[in-house]
Amino acid sequence: MDQSPYDVIIIGAGASGLIAAYELSLTGRKVAVLEARARLGGRIHTIANKKFSVPVESGAEFIHGNLNLTKTLLKQAGISFSEVKGELWQKKSGKLSRQEDFIEDYNDLEKKFKQLKNDLPVSAFVEKYLTDDKYEELRFTLKNYVEGYYAAELSKASTYALCEELNTSDEEQYRIDGGYSQLMCYLAQQSEEHGCIFYYSHVAEQINWGENKTEVVTQSGTFYAAKLLITVPLGVLQQDKIQFNPGIPEKINAIKELGFGPVIKVILEFREAFWKSKEYTRNQDLSKLSFLFSRQEIPTWWTSFPQDSTILTGWIAGPRAAEMKNSTKNEILLKSLKSLQLIFDLEIRFLEQNLKEWDVFNWAIDEFNLGGYAYEVVNGPYFRKIVKEPVYNSIYFAGEALFDGPEIGTVEAALVSGRDTAHTIIASF
Ligand SMILES: Cc1cc2nc3c(=O)[nH]c(=O)nc-3n(C[C@H](O)[C@H](O)[C@H](O)COP(=O)(O)OP(=O)(O)OC[C@H]3O[C@@H](n4cnc5c(N)ncnc54)[C@H](O)[C@@H]3O)c2cc1C
Repeated sequence: MDQSPYDVIIIGAGASGLIAAYELSLTGRKVAVLEARARLGGRIHTIANKKFSVPVESGAEFIHGNLNLTKTLLKQAGISFSEVKGELWQKKSGKLSRQEDFIEDYNDLEKKFKQLKNDLPVSAFVEKYLTDDKYEELRFTLKNYVEGYYAAELSKASTYALCEELNTSDEEQYRIDGGYSQLMCYLAQQSEEHGCIFYYSHVAEQINWGENKTEVVTQSGTFYAAKLLITVPLGVLQQDKIQFNPGIPEKINAIKELGFGPVIKVILEFREAFWKSKEYTRNQDLSKLSFLFSRQEIPTWWTSFPQDSTILTGWIAGPRAAEMKNSTKNEILLKSLKSLQLIFDLEIRFLEQNLKEWDVFNWAIDEFNLGGYAYEVVNGPYFRKIVKEPVYNSIYFAGEALFDGPEIGTVEAALVSGRDTAHTIIASF
């Protein structure tokens, strides 16, 4: 089925593609969105199908700070959000104890950051500035933070970006009441009301293009437009899942230089929130537990506190996720239970009997993601600039990975990048 030409075709109905669809359709342009999955939202996907007793986020879950565009859109859509509160805990030297911050010893780190003259990969920074034995704990925490939070490889992650993020990030974090997907549905609905057409289960396989004309080839037909906005994840482009004719080697080479780390999320719902009972925590009061850090195979866990639920979420990112990505869901479940057994000193049988529902969301092998999210690399701004430059006013790129600033890799980054690129396209007509 071949289609009559659109003004703009957007590939990908994630946060970036949806806000672009909204902005472009508001101007009266003829817009279509081609989405590979049978659903919208991309890496935002709230599971609210009664499998779990409350809606759970298989992808993005937090608003990391007082982020302008996300909060403005939520207010516009009438969707409420709540602050994430609670305590950080760690399992260290065989004991559960409170942790004051995501990176303790930050003062030491800050002094070292001040000595930096050029950006370096974090691994080189550690080798140069944190070799002393007294920094052993700091080296460990930093590695866990960069690999776990940024999903990054230490040998590629930018120290300047780490320093900026640690200096500027807000303490506050929020969750969207009822789930992030509501915001995606709002944007799609608003776009549809302004004439935008969505084609689901349409995988873009090849793009043929010339100046001000593009063709997108899918198995369900070819689509034509004056301009094309590509918002698919970096993983898809880095692994050449979309062919360009003529080729755009300068862009693809720059895309391959950007950082995109894998993530796997494990959601376990128990019959009772055993961590709230001192009986299972060696008399420690974990009733306000939010995040829990450990040295286990699945190192990071969090609760839904202050929301009352019996769910624990496990998090594997960066090199650990790369190692684990080909494990089956059952294998990852076993590793999860084993990690919790060692963290809480419990019998594995107790955990198994207490487990009510579970799932593993392996974004690293998801065919329309092939990773997790972007992180900043040394020289990232240079490579992003190459990718963001439109190809002959025909092909444009947007998405969380193309945002300049500490929020790279987040929903806010995807929204800002999608909105700004839509404005560039509008101005180019
Ligand atoms: C497990 C996980 C947890 C996260 N947690 C947070 C968090 O707490 N807070 C936060 O701010 N961010 C978080 N993020 C990051 C956040 O989800 C992303 O940055 C953001 O949602 C990306 O939006 P996007 O539009 O750039 O890309 P996507 O949402 O990935 O949208 C791209 C779309 O393109 C589609 N696509 C791919 N290939 C094709 C093709 N060939 N043809 C057509 N369509 C295609 C995909 O299906 C997808 O729908 C998390 C991400 C993951 C994976």
